[in-house]
Amino acid sequence: MFDCPSDVSTKVSQLATWISQSKCVVVHCGAGISTSAGIPDFRGPKGVWTVEEKERKRRLAEEKERKKMERELKKRKKVDNSIIEVKIEVEEDKKGVDAHDNNGIVNGIQLNTMEEMEMVKQEESVPPSVPSSDHPSDPPSDPPTDHPSDHPSDHPSVPPSDPPTDPTAQFRSSITFDSAEPTFTHMALISLLKSKYIKFIISQNIDGLFLKGNISRRDIAELHGNFFLDECNLCHTRFIRNTSSPTMGCVVSSVTCSRQSRPCRGQLRDTILDWEDELPLDEMKWADKWMRECDLAICLGTTLQIQPAASLPFRCKKKGKVVIVNLQPTKSDAKADLVIHDYVDQVMQLLCDRLQVKVDAYQVECDPTKDEKRMGKQWKR
Ligand SMILES: [Zn+2]
Repeated sequence: MFDCPSDVSTKVSQLATWISQSKCVVVHCGAGISTSAGIPDFRGPKGVWTVEEKERKRRLAEEKERKKMERELKKRKKVDNSIIEVKIEVEEDKKGVDAHDNNGIVNGIQLNTMEEMEMVKQEESVPPSVPSSDHPSDPPSDPPTDHPSDHPSDHPSVPPSDPPTDPTAQFRSSITFDSAEPTFTHMALISLLKSKYIKFIISQNIDGLFLKGNISRRDIAELHGNFFLDECNLCHTRFIRNTSSPTMGCVVSSVTCSRQSRPCRGQLRDTILDWEDELPLDEMKWADKWMRECDLAICLGTTLQIQPAASLPFRCKKKGKVVIVNLQPTKSDAKADLVIHDYVDQVMQLLCDRLQVKVDAYQVECDPTKDEKRMGKQWKR
């Protein structure tokens, strides 16, 4: 289903010409631009959403079960301790109870299962835990077991999707959102923004790779959220995170809003939309503003299936053109003015060569999610 190299070359030349002739180029991005970073497609059976959701549900269920056992154990400890106290009063000459014997009795409690014994051992040997504080304003009182841990190592690995055959893809077998880095396409688009060839990006991706590439917020609307941003539920100010959000589906945390302009009593929530959530108003407002001016819409790595993101590019048809660059055919191919079936990294490489745009490499020191000073700080437009 790939176009042959000579077709791709011809089509990219056409695209470069159109870009040069257009007044306002807007790029629409989907999961296909992140697959070479090792992040699989979003909503497929092995998609990011599906895998993370399953993993988080499993961990929450485990955590719930563990807490239940802990509570039962504590209750039994309480009852048993009172019995021990009575016994001690009666048998004054007895000097206490053997703390650990070999018959499953710990501090006078008969433990029925290995798990129960193990749990008590752990309780005794592990020092009091310090609540993790990835966000500067995380209150220390936040019970760490009410939400999945924020610790990066607790974040599930994103399993690989089908093995890629793209020789240029720097595909990694196991990648987390925290370790994923922007692809060539991300960096190429940021360079095209800087050189004014394109004006705006509308992204359906939640992986935060544009943010890691240090894009300006004025240049992008993220319609489905970003794992590296929190948002205030009242004033909608967005704040940068240094690890991916432990929750999805706009779950409100106990962290209060710390916007600079004036005090706000809102609380922070993640920005990852659930299926039934409405698209964020501010992001839609910006997407709408640029699509009204757009005379060339380029769709990159998206199958254009999710509404309203799928129909946005075609709003420019009256005064402009639509180009689709995707590995697989899409249902909208027939409506497009130009369709290129190839890897997006490959196409972007050729395109930047044609336009003579130098693509900056990703630099970890310019990545706001890795910058201690920007943790919990606003990401402003
Ligand atoms: Zn606020």
